[in-house]
Amino acid sequence: MSLSTTVETPNVTYEQPLGLFINNEFVKGVEGKTFETINPTNEKVICSVHEATEKDIDVAVKAARTAFEGAWHDVTPSERGRMLTKLADLFERDIETLAAIEAIDNGKAITLGKSDVTNAAGCLRYYGGWADKIVGQTIDQNNQTLSYTRHEPVGVCGQIIPWNFPILMWAWKIGPAIAAGNTVIIKTAEQTPLSGLYAAKLIVEAGFPPGVINIVSGFGRTAGAAISSHMDIDKVAFTGSTLVGRMILQAAAKSNLKKVTLELGGKSPNIVFDDADIDNAISWANFGIFYNHGQCCCAGSRLLVQEGIYDKFVARFKERAAKNQLGNPFESSTFQGPQVSQLQFDRIMEYINHGKNEGATVALGGERHGTEGYFIQPTIFTDVTSEMKIAQEEIFGPVIVVQKFKDEAEAIKIGNDSTYGLAAGVHTKNVNTAIRVSNAIKAGTVWINNYNLLSYQAPFGGFKSSGIGRELGSYALENYTQIKTVHYRLGDALFG
Ligand code: ADP
Repeated sequence: MSLSTTVETPNVTYEQPLGLFINNEFVKGVEGKTFETINPTNEKVICSVHEATEKDIDVAVKAARTAFEGAWHDVTPSERGRMLTKLADLFERDIETLAAIEAIDNGKAITLGKSDVTNAAGCLRYYGGWADKIVGQTIDQNNQTLSYTRHEPVGVCGQIIPWNFPILMWAWKIGPAIAAGNTVIIKTAEQTPLSGLYAAKLIVEAGFPPGVINIVSGFGRTAGAAISSHMDIDKVAFTGSTLVGRMILQAAAKSNLKKVTLELGGKSPNIVFDDADIDNAISWANFGIFYNHGQCCCAGSRLLVQEGIYDKFVARFKERAAKNQLGNPFESSTFQGPQVSQLQFDRIMEYINHGKNEGATVALGGERHGTEGYFIQPTIFTDVTSEMKIAQEEIFGPVIVVQKFKDEAEAIKIGNDSTYGLAAGVHTKNVNTAIRVSNAIKAGTVWINNYNLLSYQAPFGGFKSSGIGRELGSYALENYTQIKTVHYRLGDALFG
């Protein structure tokens, strides 16, 4: 199979690289395997890409190690920053192509795809700015000793990303790792390999030396597992399911104790008090769950509504959700495209059927939309209790469960009744309620009178089973640096 192909989308026709990107070149996998990637809107094959297996991970690690010890080591922090900034510019130049790739490969609505590319560019530029501002401390002990710290790169970083935000997750991972002076092997998700490979071309154009950023397409149980258990990878950063997060932590422990950061699942409560601005809260509740077709780890998938406004709120929320435009991702009016794959479609429909059988009421949706593509109607369940499976497990689709609460204490209790702790929303006009509840909720992010607004300047990550470590903001740099303390003795020997 060749190393590139022409792909036509309704918006652009472009040249799609298909190889593994190692040492700034597109190559075939050592074992010669390939796999297909599917357009979830029409269930047809877009193209096949070359597949990385364990042997390719070894090749990529050698390339990354050689670059780390060699050419990359001699690149100054300011030059690293300039390359990231250039990469950001190239993302913006090619926004139409990158967004179209997200629309065909992931099914993402084109407007969301463009906003992902804009945010990915912003993230790369933000970390480009950090590259020459990563500094240590000088520490005063006594007149005889100079002590200082160096924030050194960790080394070769393995990064495993999911399919829900293919190009955005790529940028979230690469930005801080590269700013801090590491080299990278990034494995894209098997459902969505195309945008990461297209961006590989931009890496060459941005001037990165060979081996600094390597991009492989492949499956979790082979290529992903090879990354998490590799003896010469110093750190692994993972975004995906809690189940796989546990496996990665175990593999790291059993191999070389590589550093691990995990950004995992969620079942986040979005809490609406009686005194909330109802129109505003309905918009954010809708955006909180149905944005990106419900495929967000931080989705506000449990809506908790206070009893005084419950009936009115649910009626109006249903009206709002019923207006969400489902359909062709390339239509600019589309808000919700298909789910990413048949497997995800089946998983979500299974949860919906489970909810029906558990005795919850389908207030809206609950069925497939159309006959072609993996579309699911926006679905609202009412009469839900906390012990139901649909209230406890992450569905990762356009499905929300609504629960009623009496007072603040009950809202906090239900809100925290989860093994997850990624995010939460609080809607109220009362500042004291907002602050008290946001303090009491065990979650890494709390949105007050909004939801799902992420910014690359602010950290993101989970409490409890939602993860380890933080991405974004200056906090992410802590995961990609290790601190060395140097004690320099100025005076005479202490012990003669
Ligand atoms: P999902 O179930 O939504 O596909 P996963 O957690 O399975 O989420 O996948 C997220 C990423 O983790 C993907 O890149 C996938 O290939 C990878 N992955 C899956 N299984 C493993 C594994 N055992 N080891 C390492 N990576 C894995």
